[in-house]
Order: sequence, then C-alpha cells, then structure tokens
Amino acid sequence: MSHIQSALFSIAKNKCPRCHEGNFFENNNPYVLSQFDKMNKRCPVCNEDFERETGYYYGAMFVSYALTVVFGISVFLIMCVLFDFDAVTFIIAFAILQILLMPLFYRTSRLLWINLFVRFRNSKLN
Ligand SMILES: [Zn+2]
Repeated sequence: MSHIQSALFSIAKNKCPRCHEGNFFENNNPYVLSQFDKMNKRCPVCNEDFERETGYYYGAMFVSYALTVVFGISVFLIMCVLFDFDAVTFIIAFAILQILLMPLFYRTSRLLWINLFVRFRNSKLN
C-alpha cells in the first residue's frame, strides 16, 4: 500500500495517521453535534500526540478554506453551467450545503492537516 492510500484511509476513516488503528475523533459520526469537534488527546492504540502544540490546528483553517473553495466551484459548475440555475439560487443552495457539511469539512481539514506532518508507521512490522 502506498503512502497516499494510507493517508486517504486515515482521513476517510477517522484513524490515527501514525498507526491507522486508533480513532482521531472520539465519535466516528460527525453528525453527533455535541461531539463532532471532540478529539482524543492521544491515540488510544499507539499513544501518538494529537495535540502537538498550542495552535497546531490553526493551519487546518487554511485547508478548510481550500476545501470550501473547491467545493464552491464544483457546486457552481454543476448548478449554473450544467443545469442553468441563477446566481441567487446558487448562493442559497451553497449556504445551506455549507451549514449541513460543516462537521465533515471541520474533521476532514484537521485530518488532512495532521496527515501532512505525521507519517504512517506499521507497528506490526517492528
Ligand atoms: Zn495511533
């Protein structure tokens, strides 16, 4: 398995970027709204520190911004170019989608950010 597949597995499955076994967020379901932002402080399997330093996830904000721009352009192309909706309808639909998908964007951007700096290490090979 290549590293890119490994990172995508960690991001998609809410897993520790180091061991791919422990959960990164406490609850796997991002739509349990009282817990969607609750992260484990350390990996319950390999003890990787998820809160590496104060302000570590500040960079995830820029990842979230990039994801939002790509998503917005995609929604615009689908709605306005393919299906000929007007701009007002696009803005309303995009705002509603952003609110509904906020927990997913939040989690994906944090997982993407930590996967940029923490590499997979298969503990079973050591
Ligand atoms: Zn781990």
